[in-house]
Amino acid sequence: MKKILIGTHNKGKFKEIAYLISKKYKKISPTTLKIKSPAETGKTFIANSRLKAKFFSKHVDYPVISDDSGLCIKSLGNKPGVHSARLAKNKGGFKKAMKYILKRMKNKKKRSATFVCSLSFKSPQKRVVNVVGKIEGTISKKIQGNHGFGYDPIFIPNFENKTFGEISYYKKIKIDHRFEAFKKLKKKIKTL
Ligand code: IMP
Repeated sequence: MKKILIGTHNKGKFKEIAYLISKKYKKISPTTLKIKSPAETGKTFIANSRLKAKFFSKHVDYPVISDDSGLCIKSLGNKPGVHSARLAKNKGGFKKAMKYILKRMKNKKKRSATFVCSLSFKSPQKRVVNVVGKIEGTISKKIQGNHGFGYDPIFIPNFENKTFGEISYYKKIKIDHRFEAFKKLKKKIKTL
């Protein structure tokens, strides 16, 4: 069976990406191979997903897919953005990070936000292929729902009145930023 390394230690992302990739691939986690993630030194989602794909590719002789994603909130200057994971780490977890965001948004009328996902694919000896997917929405007034992971309970996608945390898991993963990016990637890498 063909193998592919899904270059993330985030269980929520791993599950989503594994679900999207063809059943023909055996999906390998860097956790199983005891490979740590590289430092995310890039300033953009693309720079970070590319550096992860290149890094993980050095450890295996089969294809690698990596993701860099995050929540960009317009009225907060597009933050936390590429620092989405770091904000949660610094605040002591996602619940605390969401509470922090909601507090900062308390008096904001404009609540629009975008979830962004950059996916990078690298085959051995080939260049990195990169795509970006987005989903637009708004930030809820409170934490709602417990499906999904990360910032799902405060993000309401446009054309819905529920947060990602309230929407069924399989519905969410067929409309979100990762799915949008994956559709573009599949056009370029047909075997996925
Ligand atoms: P990074 O790509 O490893 O820097 O992490 C991105 C951060 O954004 C993670 O901590 C995620 O929890 C958050 N994030 C990315 N995609 C999603 C999503 O689909 N739902 C909720 N949070 C997400």
